[in-house]
Amino acid sequence: MAKKKRIVIALGGNALGNTLPEQMAAVKITAKAIVDLIEEGCEVVVAHGNGPQVGMVNNAMIALMHEDPQQPNTPLSVCVAMSQAYIGYDLQNALREELLNRNITDIPVATMITQVRVDPDDPAFQTPSKPIGKFFSREQADAMEEKYHYIMKEDAGRGYRRVVASPKPVEIIEIGTIRTMVDSGDLVIACGGGGIPVIRENNHLRGASAVIDKDFASCLLAKELDADYLIILTAVEQVALNYGTPAEKWLSDVSVEEAKQYISEGHFAPGSMLPKVQAAIDFAESKPGRTALITLLEKSRDAVQGRTGTTFHL
Ligand code: ADP
Ligand code: MG
Repeated sequence: MAKKKRIVIALGGNALGNTLPEQMAAVKITAKAIVDLIEEGCEVVVAHGNGPQVGMVNNAMIALMHEDPQQPNTPLSVCVAMSQAYIGYDLQNALREELLNRNITDIPVATMITQVRVDPDDPAFQTPSKPIGKFFSREQADAMEEKYHYIMKEDAGRGYRRVVASPKPVEIIEIGTIRTMVDSGDLVIACGGGGIPVIRENNHLRGASAVIDKDFASCLLAKELDADYLIILTAVEQVALNYGTPAEKWLSDVSVEEAKQYISEGHFAPGSMLPKVQAAIDFAESKPGRTALITLLEKSRDAVQGRTGTTFHL
């Protein structure tokens, strides 16, 4: 029998929704798309984002602190850990159910709480840029800066949000365990929300106040697991040049060289499509035969069969 294709899937915001009921509904659809790929004969590893969820947890922990002055502020790394567990719980439950519904009974599903090491000298710590959680008024934002030393920034005319650092992932601490599980045929959810950011201090791993981009963490996971594909599932079926303009042109197949050229021409929005294209390039050029794919969740089966999506190769 031919070796199974190993796929790392990075789930975006639309695969998980924004609220508890939305997530409960979204993971059912997400599980179908993932199990479709398993039925195609692929070995799948799941990573995911956590933007709305980590913001929600952070806000909830702030509310707790308001209610009970004895409660200290909750570090962002702990909020990421909470979001990993919450999302992993819903996802693993939905995946298990979908597998059983299709009479696949030999694939155990589990979530790995994952720490990802970052570099304390990463310049991202000096310029926090990733908005998380709710929008606040100017007055509320000032109060939060004063009280919690948060950095609050105005976000596209919609109000003020907390911004946090988004350093690059350097090392997946639990990679050994993840590899063992994947190699033995388990369906593993790992690196949720880009992983819990930690800084090494001798034998101690200290939580960092940051949120790692899930597209970069998924790329590192795919490289470490020697995957054949990195599939980034998001809210568009393909990547476009001149996105959202009359000159829009959808891309099916892009070489690493072409993709770098398009980046330099400014075709991809920072914070949304740019990190995906950067992760796709990084994976595709890391070893011959590795392919990255960006597409819509519902189109993942078609995309793996080469019928849609944007493919990145050497
Ligand atoms: P996710 O939650 O999956 O990470 P994001 O919202 O961060 O999703 O990024 C996906 C979004 O990027 C798309 O929905 C689209 O609006 C936007 N986008 C920006 N530039 C482009 C581009 N050149 N081609 C396609 N989509 C783009
Ligand atoms: Mg995103």
